[in-house]
Amino acid sequence: MGSKLRLETQIVNDTATILLKGSIDEDADFKELNDLEAKIYEFDFENVDTLNSCGIRGWISFVEKIPDTKKVVYKNCPQIVIEQISMVFGFIKEGALIESFYAPYFCPKCDEEKKVRLLTKDIENQKAPKMICKKCNDEMEFDDIETQYFSFLNR
Ligand SMILES: [Zn+2]
Repeated sequence: MGSKLRLETQIVNDTATILLKGSIDEDADFKELNDLEAKIYEFDFENVDTLNSCGIRGWISFVEKIPDTKKVVYKNCPQIVIEQISMVFGFIKEGALIESFYAPYFCPKCDEEKKVRLLTKDIENQKAPKMICKKCNDEMEFDDIETQYFSFLNR
């Protein structure tokens, strides 16, 4: 079980950075984010630990209401968020940019899974970029199906 969602909003110039922490579930409330005085909304998903279907519905109806004049950016999306983006229509607001996200890698030598933060602009043709294990300096394997994991980039 995750903890109740907390939102930390910081507005600098025209950009609101919104840190989401905890679970996106039936208790998640995005009301405080309505009518932010900013042109750019940057949602940072780094600390989202769980999502459930009620929370996802709440999130979708919230992003639908963000005016189209705002620029929306999703940052640091963990794997659970990427899965929702791929599966659930509307989870990512139309026209929104996914700037960065985490992807699963595996180092056979260390027998360890790693979540590696990737920048969307570095992904070409739905291929996972080569990653070197920081511990042993060997090349790691991508630990999912590339075309499936990166399919959200083709929206
Ligand atoms: Zn290693």
